[in-house]
Amino acid sequence: MIKVVKFGGSSLASAEQFAKAGDIVRSDEDRKYVVPSAPGKRNDKDSKVTDMLYDCYRAASRQEDIRISFNRIKERYNTIINGLGLKLSLEEEYKKIEKNLKDQIGEDYAASRGEYLNGKIMAAYLGFEFIDAAEVIFFDEKGHFLSDKTNKVLKKRLHSAEKAVIPGFYGSLPDGTIKTFSRGGSDITGSIVAKAAEAGMYENWTDVSGCMVADPRIIKNPKPIRVVTYRELRELSYMGASVLHEDAIFPVRKAGIPINIRNTNCPEAPGTLIVESTCHVPEYTITGIAGKKGFVAVNIDKDMMNSEVGFCRKALQAFEDNRISIEHMPSGIDTMTVFVQQEEFMGKEQQILSELHKLCKPDTLDLEGDLALIAVVGRGMREARGTAGRLFSALAHANINVKMIDQGSSELNIIIGVRNGDFENAIRAIYDIFVETRL
Ligand code: ADP
Ligand code: ASP
Ligand code: MG
Repeated sequence: MIKVVKFGGSSLASAEQFAKAGDIVRSDEDRKYVVPSAPGKRNDKDSKVTDMLYDCYRAASRQEDIRISFNRIKERYNTIINGLGLKLSLEEEYKKIEKNLKDQIGEDYAASRGEYLNGKIMAAYLGFEFIDAAEVIFFDEKGHFLSDKTNKVLKKRLHSAEKAVIPGFYGSLPDGTIKTFSRGGSDITGSIVAKAAEAGMYENWTDVSGCMVADPRIIKNPKPIRVVTYRELRELSYMGASVLHEDAIFPVRKAGIPINIRNTNCPEAPGTLIVESTCHVPEYTITGIAGKKGFVAVNIDKDMMNSEVGFCRKALQAFEDNRISIEHMPSGIDTMTVFVQQEEFMGKEQQILSELHKLCKPDTLDLEGDLALIAVVGRGMREARGTAGRLFSALAHANINVKMIDQGSSELNIIIGVRNGDFENAIRAIYDIFVETRL
């Protein structure tokens, strides 16, 4: 079986972490293709190399001297190389990159060098071939990922390399310019490589022992999720369970390759297995809880709205015209509410309101900002009766005012809206009722 292994930033932040990753790769002959991220933080006060590269690029665009800040980046890599005792010099690479930063050849190019250089070190350390992602991962002129072309070229290239390192996070546009995925995108590269390699498993090595029932930054020592379906994980990651990039499941999902989230600092833990479907009975009624702050509810009221054909379409038009994507849209007989991201919405607020007036002629329009959305996700909820009842009584007990409820037709999730200030307490209350007391 071929295994593709992706290591996140904190798993490769120092020589010590690199050595752990190296031991993991060497301990299993099946681990043939490795996708590294750029070095992450070594401690709370440290910086991610990707952020340092963005800063450097912006400083150069302001014509500032970048020598000191670029030296700090070189230091990060040289410390790793020396710590591993490698006879590798990246001096020529540094010179080229520093010049390109000064020449402003592109922000994505700048950010991608974090993975590129770490890939060079990883390849030297493991004795694997280095494959530049720019030669095997492709985007179109508009920056959309080209799945078919990538799969074809990458598959062929991997056939000719028994063991290889392919840096994460970037690929190239038709003119050869470097283009990156969105932040955290090395998870996507890992998935693309797993598909092209026809791997039996995509291992995603990070700093936690799998995806937890709730965000470990909110719940202390949350329970791990042993098995989760792609659909459940997609819901959770989209709603803020940032352990895996929300788009990382697509390439492997089509190919039916499971993802195993593992902990580089605790390789013996089984982690979380992400699969297409499973008869593994979930331990609790819910599989996981995730959420995000920073939403606005746009409430639209109009008498007899229900009998006005095309009302929803007209209302949504106002958002579409202003390129605002809609998160949720609960409705009543004479009311509808549109949830949008506050940051996106704010700049266009008055334009959208006046367009709504023009298009829909509502009786009232009102806005409520600073809201958070929480998704309670679980394939087990379909079978269990009274889940919503337990959920809302737990929130009522915790004195939390629920502003919105939306249950997906798949019965896979219940989304609730609460005030930003109630966000953490709401997650704690939901975790307590379903996981701690197992109701
Ligand atoms: P990497 O650098 O390895 O890609 P990330 O920082 O992107 O790692 O993702 C791992 C982090 O995701 C964890 O350290 C944790 O803080 C955060 N996280 C958020 N929600 C969850 C969750 N439900 N389960 C586990 N980790 C989570
Ligand atoms: N290094 C990139 C980032 O910090 C990509 C990744 O880590 O997945 O976003
Ligand atoms: Mg990540």
